[in-house]
Amino acid sequence: MCHACGSPTVLDVPLANEGILLSYTTVWVEREGITPPFVLGQVRLNDGTLLYSHVRGLVDDRKVPVPVRVVVSSRTDASPPAFWFEPASPPQPPKGGGAAVETPD
Ligand SMILES: [Zn+2]
Repeated sequence: MCHACGSPTVLDVPLANEGILLSYTTVWVEREGITPPFVLGQVRLNDGTLLYSHVRGLVDDRKVPVPVRVVVSSRTDASPPAFWFEPASPPQPPKGGGAAVETPD
């Protein structure tokens, strides 16, 4: 069903499997059998499609925008979510690779 106008007229179309996570929020309310907390985010796919989806694999302070790719659930019991997005690359370690050293003034 169309979320904008409520029309039941929909089509199956192929979509890009990568995009950019534009914003996200953590949900603390149980929903449709999904145990909170879980993350929902707004993703703009590389073909321009804008959608809301579950997001997994973000570190706590990850800043947007974040390149993401879709993951389709391999579970066969139809439990939600059927798909979600995760960062397209793992979190990068802090630049410099060593501990910062403070120098006395
Ligand atoms: Zn519509």
